[in-house]
Amino acid sequence: MRNIAVLGATGSIGTSALDVIARHPQRFRASVLAAHRSSEALAVLCERFVPDLAVIADPTLEADLRARVQRAGLPTRVASGAEALTGAAASSLCDTVVAAIVGAAGLESTLAAARAGKRLLLANKEAIVMAGPLLLAALREGGGELLPVDSEHNALFQALPAAAATRRAGLAETGVRKLILTASGGPFRGRTRGELAAITPEQAVAHPNWRMGRKISVDSASLMNKGLEVIEAHFLFDAAPDRIEVVVHPQSIVHSLVEYADGSVLAQLGHPDMRTALAYGLAWPERIEAGVRPLDLVALARLDFQPPDLDTFRCLGLAYAALRCGGTAPAVLNAANEVAVAAFLDGQLPFLAISEVIEACLEKIPPEPVANLAQLIQTDLTARATAQRMMRRLHC
Ligand code: NAD
Ligand code: MG
Repeated sequence: MRNIAVLGATGSIGTSALDVIARHPQRFRASVLAAHRSSEALAVLCERFVPDLAVIADPTLEADLRARVQRAGLPTRVASGAEALTGAAASSLCDTVVAAIVGAAGLESTLAAARAGKRLLLANKEAIVMAGPLLLAALREGGGELLPVDSEHNALFQALPAAAATRRAGLAETGVRKLILTASGGPFRGRTRGELAAITPEQAVAHPNWRMGRKISVDSASLMNKGLEVIEAHFLFDAAPDRIEVVVHPQSIVHSLVEYADGSVLAQLGHPDMRTALAYGLAWPERIEAGVRPLDLVALARLDFQPPDLDTFRCLGLAYAALRCGGTAPAVLNAANEVAVAAFLDGQLPFLAISEVIEACLEKIPPEPVANLAQLIQTDLTARATAQRMMRRLHC
């Protein structure tokens, strides 16, 4: 029996993870559930899954959650705050952690799970973008395993030789020439910059293929999601930036591909449904039912591929630039993007200004080699403050 902590249980990934867990009661148990502020939704999940511990990140909502849990007569313990979250990720209540918090807020719990040797199902890509070297060191220290849940990286994990997927061997020594990440292109694929000037948040979050949280939906529309994923692939598989290619594939059926020295290209295909990647990560190295319908190739009939439009969607180029700079530059990119996306969702910043804010922050804040967590948290804060200043200067 695997005891699983689902951090970000009320979100899109959390919901998919709990769906897979519920399909396999003999194998899996949701022993810890955590969310940010939605105490009502978290209490409903507690009634359904009866975890040992429920954590609400916002301490002002602890009493509300406790009252709900008590009213339902549940044995579930209730805690709150960032420390409780980190403690839960490292505790003996779980052997597996689904890191599905959105943004830098998930960094410390993700690191704690790695350091404690858990099986880490990583959806929280911002954590590895910000702190790749620290996360890899924590994994080595803890001796646990990282199973990527981001669909592209999960596809790469499946298509790579096992030794390269788990970083026991390098890409070149296992005959891998290139990692090819697919991108749907988002809701604005094919549009010109002029057509993107007056985009609204509702248009940006209406993704054609995936139902996701609002932040990652905007990232998909700007192609920053793919940029973050390029950086994620670099750290996960020790891939140099010029070995990582992005190709636009509007149907989101081919989730990513590995090109080998002999000319073979291995891909992983499936419907755009995160339960496949989550079931893979939960059961690995076995395969289990995930509730995802079979792929009908004849009904699909065709799969298309195009180059990304780097002039219109500048965030992807900025992410490559930050990766090439190295050190703290990806953390600056991530923080500036989080601030700019939140302002865009709030109606305070035009869509096209997201990349301007990020570019200005990367220019302003010189990168340093990654040293420790305190330094990265400081970098994150500095980049957020700089982004706010840039936004006031540029547009607000
Ligand atoms: P979401 O907005 O639907 O859910 C976010 C979850 O995180 C919620 O449960 C929320 O309560 C929790 N949360 C937010 N801030 C928090 C805080 N400060 N402390 C504790 N909990 C907090 O987001 P999502 O779409 O599920 O995405 C989650 C992560 O997974 C993101 O990093 C995203 O990039 C990644 N991801 C998502 C998908 C997808 O299909 N949704 C695919 C690949 C990767
Ligand atoms: Mg992805």
